[in-house]
Amino acid sequence: MPFDFICPTNPEYRAKILSYIEEISRENIEGVTLNLYHFPEEEFCVCSRCVELWRKSGLNWTEWRAQEITSFLKEAKRLVKGTFAVEMFPDPVLAKERFGIDFEGIAELVDYFHVPLSSRDYLTNYWVDLLARDFVKILKKPVVVEVSAEMLNDEKADALLKTVAYLSRHDLMGVLMLVHDAENARQICRYAVNNSDFREWVRKYEFAKMMQIVDRWAKLY
Ligand SMILES: [Zn+2]
Repeated sequence: MPFDFICPTNPEYRAKILSYIEEISRENIEGVTLNLYHFPEEEFCVCSRCVELWRKSGLNWTEWRAQEITSFLKEAKRLVKGTFAVEMFPDPVLAKERFGIDFEGIAELVDYFHVPLSSRDYLTNYWVDLLARDFVKILKKPVVVEVSAEMLNDEKADALLKTVAYLSRHDLMGVLMLVHDAENARQICRYAVNNSDFREWVRKYEFAKMMQIVDRWAKLY
């Protein structure tokens, strides 16, 4: 593994996450999105506790791992005030085998799925459209797609906005633009509003929803 990970069956770790959820749910929040609650890869975790739990369960490896993750999310959901969502590594095909993420079971617990499709730029973007399409089809709850929006030059801003235009054709709950500084997201919106070439491109290819979004941005920014 190129990174460290915590065994998701570690009771201290679980207790810490749950108490954190309890604590923030006392604040004025709209909801909680959990990330990195799952196994890091197919061959993990093989610590003595996990192997023992798996043996006792009588389930096969994939089913046991999925059950561990879903039952932890069930506990977490009970403590959440407001909406509850999960983020995941964006693999629509092998999520259960690799991470113990059972889309069917989790759909019963969450209000929406948060799908991060992060990139340093979107100059090549077919994969964003492809993965968004797959997730919308597979997941039985609404989908929010996250894109990286720290795009500080015009070429990258243009590519990001065209990617968001393609996303706007899918039945998504929303597109989240991830930035470290909110001003950078506003800059993307202003770029769209003030760039007649981009607006013409949106019109020419009939991205109706994107036209509405840019019109709304024009009023806000
Ligand atoms: Zn373990």
